[in-house]
Formats: sequence, structure tokens, C-alpha cells
Amino acid sequence: MSPRNTAQRAAILDVLTETEAPLGIEQILSKGQQAVASLSQATVYRILKQMMDRGHVATVQLPGQTPLYELSGKGHHHFFRCWQCEQMFEVTGCEGLVDQLVPRGFALEDHDLFLYGLCATCRRNG
Ligand SMILES: [Zn+2]
Ligand SMILES: [Zn+2]
Repeated sequence: MSPRNTAQRAAILDVLTETEAPLGIEQILSKGQQAVASLSQATVYRILKQMMDRGHVATVQLPGQTPLYELSGKGHHHFFRCWQCEQMFEVTGCEGLVDQLVPRGFALEDHDLFLYGLCATCRRNG
């Protein structure tokens, strides 16, 4: 791996490490370019793909939207998406709540959950 490639990888890893919420390609690109100005969208895609193949990065798929990316291994969690600022906030603590929704006699194996609304900042400013 060339030193240039290593710097690009490190820049993308830094972006994903410093963020609380998963990011889209454009956000990763613009933040990554602050560290490595030559970073291109094709390079970001290629490096993210490598990281996903190795299990270091996971995608978050919102219905009808392009995938977002985050570091894997953060444990089970969901997201609250703000309509207004479009930021995503991590939500935990679904265990037990979801089980109550399962019809009697059914075996739950997995679930997916998105919360939508206004974040605290947008509520205050709105
Ligand atoms: Zn908001
Ligand atoms: Zn859950």
C-alpha cells in the first residue's frame, strides 16, 4: 500500500472515528479533504468498500436514501433522524420494548427501527 493511500485511509478513518452519527459519501469526502486535499469521491468509495469487506465499517440504510457509513462494532443501536437539520442521533435501549410488539407464538429474530422528528436544538430554534 502506497504512503498516499495510507494517508487517505487514515483521513477517512479519522472522519468516521470523530463523528457521532453515520455519514454520507459527500460528508465523508468534504471532511476528509480537510486532511487530504487530493481525496476524490472514487477513492472514498474504494476505501470504504475495503473497510466494509474487512468488517471495519457498516452501512446504515434509511428507506429511500443513499447509504450512510459508520464504524462497526458499536453494538446494537438505532437512530433518531431530525426532519429539520437532517442530523442522525444514536438511540439505544430498545431491548425489551420491541419484544412486547411480537405477536404471541412468534419468534423475533431481528428488527430495524428509525425514529423521526425534531431534535432538541431544532425544537428550541423553531
Ligand atoms: Zn434538528
Ligand atoms: Zn434495536
